[in-house]
Amino acid sequence: MKVAVIGCTHAGTASILNVAKLYPDAKITVYERNDTISFLSCGIALYVGGVIKDPNGLFYSSPEELKKLGVTTKMSHDVLDVNTDEKKLKVRNLKTNEEFEDKFDKLIITTGSWPIVPNIEGIDLDNILLSKNFYHSNTIIEKAKTAKNIVVVGAGYIGVELVEAFEMNKKNVTLIDSQDRILSKYLDKEYTDTAENAFLDHSVKLALGETVNRFEGKDGKVSKVITSKGEYEADLVILCIGFKPNTKLFENQIELLDNGAIIVDEYMRTSKEDIYAAGDCCAIIYNPTGKHGYIPLATNAVRMGTLVARNLVKPTTKYMGTQGTSGIKIYEYNIASTGLNENYAKELGIDISTVTVEDNYRPEFMPTYNLAKLKVVYEKKSRIILGAQIISKTDLTQCINTISVCIQNKMTIDELAFIDFFFQPHFNKPWNLLNLAGLSAE
Ligand SMILES: Cc1cc2nc3c(=O)[nH]c(=O)nc-3n(C[C@H](O)[C@H](O)[C@H](O)COP(=O)(O)OP(=O)(O)OC[C@H]3O[C@@H](n4cnc5c(N)ncnc54)[C@H](O)[C@@H]3O)c2cc1C
Repeated sequence: MKVAVIGCTHAGTASILNVAKLYPDAKITVYERNDTISFLSCGIALYVGGVIKDPNGLFYSSPEELKKLGVTTKMSHDVLDVNTDEKKLKVRNLKTNEEFEDKFDKLIITTGSWPIVPNIEGIDLDNILLSKNFYHSNTIIEKAKTAKNIVVVGAGYIGVELVEAFEMNKKNVTLIDSQDRILSKYLDKEYTDTAENAFLDHSVKLALGETVNRFEGKDGKVSKVITSKGEYEADLVILCIGFKPNTKLFENQIELLDNGAIIVDEYMRTSKEDIYAAGDCCAIIYNPTGKHGYIPLATNAVRMGTLVARNLVKPTTKYMGTQGTSGIKIYEYNIASTGLNENYAKELGIDISTVTVEDNYRPEFMPTYNLAKLKVVYEKKSRIILGAQIISKTDLTQCINTISVCIQNKMTIDELAFIDFFFQPHFNKPWNLLNLAGLSAE
């Protein structure tokens, strides 16, 4: 069996490692246009902030390691064209410019995503950067050395993490977003208010509810960002306004969502036989709504990549969908969320109720304790749990993984009240916060 893989970051690496393990006779070739594989982009902000000193720690596999498994890794090779009917690829070696064809029996598409770049005046000025791969992170670090005023556009988790990293390195930082709250996709206002105040306490400028209209430059370099409401000095701009799936090669060949995300079934099969896909290039079933969504996360990518391997010859293991569970640390606050927040659920027209509990996470007789705030969103009629958010100065983010399991299994808020959780004064109270949420629901 000849297996071709396009792209070798999380989804690609996961699928290759598992295909090699499950089918030792498979002849696997992976094409990757970069000259690195398995880059952990989740480490970019920590690398930029100086917390990660050795960039080698940002990679967890290598062509040498894959070679030991019998895999041929073609680095700096760009796949230019794919014919899914004739099962053929056209590839360019980016070092020699040589072009050649390859054939496959099975194709695994793990081409991932690319940052959205808005088509606005001044976008081509120098020092307007993206934050996705290893090269981007090195450029950001290099340019940030001499930058005084840094503007981050986009207050999702990638932008927010970078803002903190720049501020810790004593830069003047402005965060711009057209939404009137940071992290508005993940958290409700009472949570984002706390996070925003943490930024304001560190003198970060928040320009929320403002749309970037254009960039101005001096000597070819960005110098100002002009928004719908103001203008901000900038010698470095990082664009973090979202991602789009990298699927141009497959237009008119396999079924895609409107945004270009590949539609796969629960076995990671695309609409064409023997063509599989995984990771950021795909749409995924979002369990709180039961519909396809575009939720580019490393967690989804490694799971889907692994499932491609398990299902490559025969459908065996179904994907269970996702809740889009994610966590973030903003200064001293540990924050996590899963599924729908109240705001988003209402936007979708879902009739929901919410319950919020605020309590010290462990008994007050302990030498220290911190407040925790947990909010659970559930469907009003069925009382099925649809989402949750937590914030505390103590790391209680694992609570949110527990709620993710509840959503996955369609549990109700009433069941949450009486689930067995341990109690020990170091860690919690006799009534676990999650139980309390269930007990407090109307
Ligand atoms: C700054 C940042 C922080 C993040 N933090 C987190 C986090 O904390 N937690 C989390 O779960 N997720 C996080 N993510 C998201 C996570 O990184 C992505 O979901 C993940 O990288 C997706 O993996 P992938 O393999 O599907 O795609 P990608 O990482 O996009 O990789 C696709 C690969 O395919 C290659 N490729 C594409 N087209 C071709 C072609 N035609 N020929 C050859 N090669 C090609 C690309 O070069 C690339 O290496 C973060 C992302 C960023 C940018």
